[in-house]
Amino acid sequence: MPVFAPLPVAFVRGEGAWLTDTNGKKYLDALAGVAVCNLGHAHPAVTRALCDQAGKLLHVSNWYEIPEQAQLAERLCKLASMDNVFFCNSGAEANEAAIKLARLYGHKKDILHPSIIVMEGSFHGRTLATLSATGNRKIQAGFEPLVAGFYRVPYNDLEAVRTVAEHNKDIVAVLVEPITGEGGVQIPDAGYLQGLRQICDERGWLLMFDEIQTGMGRTGKWFAWQHENVRPDVMTLAKGLGNGVPIGACLAQGAAAKVFSPGNHGSTFSGNPLVCRVALAVLDVLETEKLDRRSAMLGERLLAGFRHALAGVAGVKEIRGRGLMLAIELDRPCKELLKLALDSGLLINVTADNVVRLLPPLILSDAEADEIVTRLAPAIRTFLSKAAA
Ligand SMILES: *Cc1c(COP(=O)(O)O)cnc(C)c1O
Repeated sequence: MPVFAPLPVAFVRGEGAWLTDTNGKKYLDALAGVAVCNLGHAHPAVTRALCDQAGKLLHVSNWYEIPEQAQLAERLCKLASMDNVFFCNSGAEANEAAIKLARLYGHKKDILHPSIIVMEGSFHGRTLATLSATGNRKIQAGFEPLVAGFYRVPYNDLEAVRTVAEHNKDIVAVLVEPITGEGGVQIPDAGYLQGLRQICDERGWLLMFDEIQTGMGRTGKWFAWQHENVRPDVMTLAKGLGNGVPIGACLAQGAAAKVFSPGNHGSTFSGNPLVCRVALAVLDVLETEKLDRRSAMLGERLLAGFRHALAGVAGVKEIRGRGLMLAIELDRPCKELLKLALDSGLLINVTADNVVRLLPPLILSDAEADEIVTRLAPAIRTFLSKAAA
């Protein structure tokens, strides 16, 4: 079904930050499959884990113990300071688990219609509950009736959260991206996450961070909340966790970790030996190569590079980012840039109409980071001069 409108290019091979198309042309990948291939393409440690496990055991079902899953759970919980985890197969499913967890948490407190505060401009997925939580009308339009039980407030606005709280006694949680992804790489003010933590603590709500895009070293820390040291009650992961094998996770700590019991939730494929083995290999590489710190350094380098290369260019509104989650906001819609960059052998993304978003793999070399600037800055200049004429 034509739900995607792909660019006219197909890749046959990848290595590190590079992809080769069917004509043998090479592209520098500054998208990483939308923040998925954090270790780049065909990483030997990932390939090794995948091939080895494929030769042993792919799947048995969660009706039996799965040692690889238990190991992954333990490693992830330790890294994220969480108590337990539910594995699933995508980001949307991880958020579905978080939403179900919050509702059950509410029902256990005798709240009949437990509701969750969500943000304008957010993105949480394409299933019915997650598109209802998403703060983007385009994603919801045509799929009404939406799932009930969400109150929407502006992002980065603590007063708005307090106001909603005054008038509604059925709220049980706040679901928020620490930095928005699809919403255009909006970075909230320092103190925002802390403020949310405080409101949640005062009222007994769960603070739930959607780190599906920001997690796994993307922003220069393992998890974006670590920049502010604001630990959530629930955190969702997916994208970078499997470097391309489909795996999601919903982690919880404290009271939130005691909500689910056998029968409350499940999934056939979730946490099978194959995906867990690969995710364990991903953690190994991230840890031993300290790619979280590398992501922070590369992010600074790219920000400085773009600020220099695009200094004084009319039409460039803001260059911002944290780690390797970067945005160049222009003053006009710029989808056209996808094709211009592609012609220059560079993969990028445009989101929120006028934001060029860069999510390169964390294994980038300094020279490759510089090459992204070298290829993209002229394309942006060309685009802006043409569009103005
Ligand atoms: C990608 C994304 C999702 C949805 O993940 P899928 O795997 O596409 O279902 C949810 N939240 C955020 C923040 C994302 O970036």
